[in-house]
Amino acid sequence: MTSSKVNETPETLVLGAGPAGLACAMELARAGRRCTVVERDQQIGGLAKTLTVREGDDVFLTDIGPHRFFSKNQYLYDFIEDLLAEEWRRVPRLTRQFVEGKYYNYPVNFGQVVRNLGFLKSVRIGIDYFLARLRYDVLGKPLRTFEDYVVANFGRSLAEFSMINYSEKIWGVSCADIHPDWAKQRISGLNLLSVLRNAIGFGGKKGPKSLVDEFYYPQFGTGRIYEAIGERLLSKGTDIHTESRPVRVAHDGKRITEVDIETPGGVQTVRPEHVVESVPITAFLELLDPKPPQAILDAAGALRWRNQVYLFLTLDKEQVTKDNWIYFPQKDIPFGRTSEMKNFSKDMCPEGTTSFFVEFFAFESDKIWTMEKDEVLEMVLPFFEKWDFFKREDIRQCYLWKRSHVYPIYDTSYKDNVELIRSYLDGLENLIYVGRPGRFRYTNQDHSLEMGIIASRMVLEGRRYDMDTVGAENEYFEKGPIYEKRI
Ligand SMILES: Cc1cc2nc3c(=O)[nH]c(=O)nc-3n(C[C@H](O)[C@H](O)[C@H](O)COP(=O)(O)OP(=O)(O)OC[C@H]3O[C@@H](n4cnc5c(N)ncnc54)[C@H](O)[C@@H]3O)c2cc1C
Repeated sequence: MTSSKVNETPETLVLGAGPAGLACAMELARAGRRCTVVERDQQIGGLAKTLTVREGDDVFLTDIGPHRFFSKNQYLYDFIEDLLAEEWRRVPRLTRQFVEGKYYNYPVNFGQVVRNLGFLKSVRIGIDYFLARLRYDVLGKPLRTFEDYVVANFGRSLAEFSMINYSEKIWGVSCADIHPDWAKQRISGLNLLSVLRNAIGFGGKKGPKSLVDEFYYPQFGTGRIYEAIGERLLSKGTDIHTESRPVRVAHDGKRITEVDIETPGGVQTVRPEHVVESVPITAFLELLDPKPPQAILDAAGALRWRNQVYLFLTLDKEQVTKDNWIYFPQKDIPFGRTSEMKNFSKDMCPEGTTSFFVEFFAFESDKIWTMEKDEVLEMVLPFFEKWDFFKREDIRQCYLWKRSHVYPIYDTSYKDNVELIRSYLDGLENLIYVGRPGRFRYTNQDHSLEMGIIASRMVLEGRRYDMDTVGAENEYFEKGPIYEKRI
């Protein structure tokens, strides 16, 4: 985005232009401070960017996996509203699971489950729940894994139906090997009884709209938030170097002393006062010179990431379904989720058309990771034709994208490894590491933005804040009223 010459002595060097890095740069710019942002990709926005696909005069926009905005932090809504004004809109939410040819609301609606599954299976859900309470409450079985947590709260049958199968698709490992932190973030405060209360009309349905019913979304895709930040930054003199990356981070054990940046124009060395890093923590550790102790490298080597493969179809069809997105927990269906961007904003595709986004979860060793576009299309098309979503002749074009380091895997040893790495990195006093990849934390946009904002305060105020307080409430993140606009 800017000239290939990198400022040799920036006050702050920001590595990675995703939500976390950009929020930091934006807050610094607002305080009248310039910084240098370095981003590996051509486009800023990280996992939350919106891609533009041109087919002749027709333009299709898509997030890389649908991104709705939700937060309990008023500051963030104001932050985005200031950037997007009337482009920032409320969207009604419809999210469902599709199991054995039937739709189920998400989050789970017990009444609907009973109607669709029938009396016997519903009785089974009740008995399993009773047995689970007995095992975990009365007999005191400890909650050591994600599986324990969801079985204790929902009983095995409902847990498998609604959470375990889908979670195993995301992570590619058994839920018995997933840390309960994942459950705290996803379902804390929810259990079979609360779901039942909602089903029979107590709680949830009355009162203000909640994050379950509606969310905020920019008119032209979630990436507009980050493009708007980019525009503001450039107007305030902040340098953003895209297609550039750090290749060496030198330190003296106490401070980062210099960073070599590879840009399209060659490698340049910079000596920043502060480094705010949001690139994958495992990759960052490999750049350190001298290398970290072997125990730290071993801990980094034990951290695992899950990748994603995305198939994007443009369709000559008015609409596939009314859903924002649909989950497919069944193990015999190769993809995990689909989304239709038109149902977020009609401006995401030309009139009379729609688009369809299909997400797969993968390790590099999985077959899907190496498959070609046409192979992937042929694998999934029979499902969509059978369910009457669309037909081969509706497809205009098909695109395939792949991304690594998408999900930090919360396996049962991740926490110890992350803590060890952090105790080492915290010894570098001018380093602040933030964001989903930078802290190996499963964050949404709001928590990444918040971390970036906190990082800027550390720079501006010259003091440390505890980054782990972001999202530390450990509450089911869809609870709470939706924010009312101020303008
Ligand atoms: C499929 C999917 C759906 C999601 N849905 C939602 C949603 O509905 N709502 C929501 O709020 N959030 C959602 N998220 C989460 C959201 O995308 C992330 O929380 C957010 O993007 C994280 O921001 P970040 O800055 O921490 O990290 P990232 O977005 O990962 O940004 C890191 C940046 O660093 C860059 N980088 C990496 N390596 C290097 C390097 N070596 N040198 C230079 N730059 C580098 C990357 O290119 C990237 O731009 C979703 C994520 C996914 C994958």
